[in-house]
Amino acid sequence: MKAVASEEGISESEVLSEIASGRMVIPLNPAHDTVRAVGVGRAVRTKVNANLGRSPTNSGEADELDKLSCALKHGADFVMDLSVGGDISAIRRRMIDASPAPLGTVPVYETIALLDGDVPSMDPSFLIDVVRRQAEEGVDFMTLHAGLLSKHVDLALKRKMGIVSRGGSIMAEWMKKHGRENPLYERWDEVMDILAEHDVTVSLGDGLRPGCLADASDAAQFAELDVLGELVERCRKRGVQVMVEGPGHVPFDQIKANMEREQAVCAGAPFYVLGPVVTDIAPAYDHIVAAIGATAAATYGASLLCYVTPAEHLGLPDMEEVRQGLAAFRIAAHAGDVARGLKGARDIDDRMSDARVRFDWDAQFDCALDPDAARARWLRTRPAEEGACHDDDHCSMCGKAFCAVRTSKRIRRLMEESAAADGK
Ligand code: SF4
Repeated sequence: MKAVASEEGISESEVLSEIASGRMVIPLNPAHDTVRAVGVGRAVRTKVNANLGRSPTNSGEADELDKLSCALKHGADFVMDLSVGGDISAIRRRMIDASPAPLGTVPVYETIALLDGDVPSMDPSFLIDVVRRQAEEGVDFMTLHAGLLSKHVDLALKRKMGIVSRGGSIMAEWMKKHGRENPLYERWDEVMDILAEHDVTVSLGDGLRPGCLADASDAAQFAELDVLGELVERCRKRGVQVMVEGPGHVPFDQIKANMEREQAVCAGAPFYVLGPVVTDIAPAYDHIVAAIGATAAATYGASLLCYVTPAEHLGLPDMEEVRQGLAAFRIAAHAGDVARGLKGARDIDDRMSDARVRFDWDAQFDCALDPDAARARWLRTRPAEEGACHDDDHCSMCGKAFCAVRTSKRIRRLMEESAAADGK
């Protein structure tokens, strides 16, 4: 809590009070030796998570570790290992060792991978064993789809897209096959005992998040949210830190109401959103689509944004797509913080503006969200020949004669001279 207070520039007593109320969480498993403390909540900067992990058909362990380095370099506050292929346990352990950022998982993925994808054969005790083992290994936060109940599945299947959450679809298939209730919900006290013992934060999964605009804000989504609100209360009583996951695909005009509803139903628990994606028609540009939604989400109630990359809906992201996803979402998080008036959030924008007026390029790159990209782009259109004009008081966008910032300075000087002359 002291580290978070110092990092965020707020008082220790404010952090203490936010943690005590459950409006802030610090996902940090003491078994994760190298982890740093990162606060998630409305009192602090909006954070960004990068999803990584092997698929059964693409990428190897080394690729995902390279993507982890890339994600950390480009500002991921949190990472999740969502591996569903290869030796999941081995890659998770290596990612925990390599990541100072808190690391999250979805334990049901490893459970089903160990059963070769045979969902109906899952023994609930085996799932709980996987939760325990991952907690012992140092996983800082876990997505558990405990709020999707048997009665919700019928509602979800009336939708255009049905269930689009991997974890949600697994739990739904298991419940329908066995005619039983969600085992995580039924055995929630047992799960909380494990989480409490290892100080693991739970991220309540939204198994019924809408997968298209047509399904947004429907009965299935909000029925599950009500159960998540109940589980939040139980976690708080048990002393387990809890955050809540949210949509999904949501039209822009519905985002504010969605954020406010979660905050009300879940008593201010930090909201962790995927996107939201605000239109369904832009594959290859979904990082932009989702960053638009994420900016609104951060403005109106979300505390943690799960990045979306250009590969969303198309394939497993590569390293360049991880970088692009993080750039888009760090912009969204910061723009949301500025818009909601978070204390000090706009200071760096003001420093950037001052540096622009001074044509202090180094200072501009220092303020830039991606300094390397900004500097490289600036250098690309500076005159290359030896002896060419290298004046730094304009850029190639308008050129020296048409540079409005330069002209404004001349006007200002003119007015100062004229005022001085009048004074005489
Ligand atoms: S040349 Fe144009 S874009 Fe570049 S600094 Fe001047 S006004 Fe701005």
